[in-house]
Amino acid sequence: MSDLHGKVIWITGAARGIGKAIAEVAAERGASLALTDVLESELAATRDEICASHGVKAISAKLDVTDAAGADEFVQKCVTDLGGLTGLVNNAGITRDNLLIRMSEDDWDRVLDINLKGTFVCSKSAVRVMMRARYGKIVNIASVVGVMGNAGQANYAASKAGIIGLTKSLAKEFGGRGIRANAVAPGFIETEMTHTLTPDVRDAYLKVIPLNYLGSPRDVAQTCAFLLSADADYISGQVLIVDGAMHT
Ligand code: NAP
Repeated sequence: MSDLHGKVIWITGAARGIGKAIAEVAAERGASLALTDVLESELAATRDEICASHGVKAISAKLDVTDAAGADEFVQKCVTDLGGLTGLVNNAGITRDNLLIRMSEDDWDRVLDINLKGTFVCSKSAVRVMMRARYGKIVNIASVVGVMGNAGQANYAASKAGIIGLTKSLAKEFGGRGIRANAVAPGFIETEMTHTLTPDVRDAYLKVIPLNYLGSPRDVAQTCAFLLSADADYISGQVLIVDGAMHT
């Protein structure tokens, strides 16, 4: 198991789903946690549950990932309360699916704003502290859809493809300062986000997953823990696809 003792990891969108699983796995492996989400009470419950189970230090705050001033303030809180910031997982994300011809500009803008601009905003706040420490790990949650494209998800696919380009650029721009940046691209994972899909769509996905089952949030979380740990110190600028061989 990849060890995360001594690490301080900020996870966005941590109240539930994949973000919560990333927080749980990081805590199991000894990390201190800095958790943010727009869902304030669900986030506090997640923080309390993880602290009670794993006895790790954790802070949490309501934060919209597009709020640059709020992100800077939260990073300062990490430094004051947890002694620094060694890792960031840009996990918060939304979908507003529709065929392009019916997609509103608002749905396009909202998805690009939260998924792509939010990743830029939180990364910018985090690298300031990481640069001073000459060490840091950024893990951006993309999607296999950002690699393959998907009918009905032009906004989401564009945002996730953008995250991959951003990740590779961060790896090149900050490598000299000891900062690594990688993307994790999940396939079809069982969360609230995917519970909204119709049974027909779920069946269609299962047919194209050679492993023949849907992934769990823990499958993604364990990949993040590896990338955040010293085991992956020489890996940067990569996209790790976690999709049961759907995209090969
Ligand atoms: P989820 O269950 O909807 O959880 C995402 C969390 O992020 C929610 O608590 C959500 O709050 C929060 N959030 C939304 N907008 C935010 C904002 N502006 N600022 C801060 N937090 C915000 O989604 P998930 O399935 O765990 O997905 C997590 C990540 O994995 C996303 O980036 C997603 O694109 C990616 N992903 C998921 C799958 C999958 O199959 N589930 C596959 C590939 C990639 P609200 O409920 O209020 O929106």
